[in-house]
Amino acid sequence: MSLASRTAVVTGSTSGIGLAIARALAGEGANIVINGFGDAAAIEAERAKIEADFGVKCGYSGADMTKPAEIAGMIKDAETAYGSVDILVNNAGIQFVSPIEDFPLEKWDQIIAINLSSAFHAIRAAVPGMKSRKWGRIVNTASAHSLVASPFKSAYVTAKHGLAGLSKTAALELAQFGVTSNCISPGYVWTPLVEKQIPDTMKARNLTKEQVIHDVLLAAQPTKQFVTVDQVASLAVWLCSDAASQVTGANISMDGGWTAE
Ligand code: NAD
Repeated sequence: MSLASRTAVVTGSTSGIGLAIARALAGEGANIVINGFGDAAAIEAERAKIEADFGVKCGYSGADMTKPAEIAGMIKDAETAYGSVDILVNNAGIQFVSPIEDFPLEKWDQIIAINLSSAFHAIRAAVPGMKSRKWGRIVNTASAHSLVASPFKSAYVTAKHGLAGLSKTAALELAQFGVTSNCISPGYVWTPLVEKQIPDTMKARNLTKEQVIHDVLLAAQPTKQFVTVDQVASLAVWLCSDAASQVTGANISMDGGWTAE
């Protein structure tokens, strides 16, 4: 139980990668605050299951990652409830696929807000406590799209490249305070986010579902396999361990070889 007595806030953790990271950190003994949208009863069931499965405390924040005041409030409430926020996982993210000239303005703003600016607001709110306790871990779920681009994903690629820059800047500012800041950059992970973008990609490229999966999604991934949420979660846990105390400012790929090409 390497993280007993720590508290972790994981944004966008009502499903997919975030939920797997929240459960893995709870498995190491950390108290958890989950966050995100979804069916209230389903979220409450996941929250209660984390407490039951791992014997930790688990709270839920419904903070909207497009709203800076709600993000700051989520960090403050977690500090009040559990005494500290030691681990911050900036994971909330959405996707929208469209040619750049048709890209809806509100989708651009929403993706930049959720996938990039929310991490700034959460880091800004959590850093004073981490610095004062001389220990902290910031883990940002970036993407292979923080390193390379794909067509039709202008907002997402822009936000993820920005998140990688923010992560490195925080690493430098916090290097002498026992606080690390790193990115995990997965390739395609099988989650609702990937599943949901298939219809738009079918439309944008005039392909069948099978063609999108094999020729578009896994075309980029030399292993021809999806990354699993548990693999991403294991890396997040390792970044929070003492073994990783000298790993900061890194952008660690877990993409089946995608960005090696
Ligand atoms: P997902 O759709 O399963 O989960 C996204 C989470 O974000 C959900 O909990 C959702 O409720 C939450 N969310 C969305 N909008 C929000 C808002 N305004 N405020 C608060 N929470 C909000 O997606 P996922 O695949 O698990 O993605 C998680 C992260 O991983 C994202 O940042 C995504 O860009 C990144 N990522 C995913 C893949 C992949 O292939 N799935 C690959 C690389 C990176």
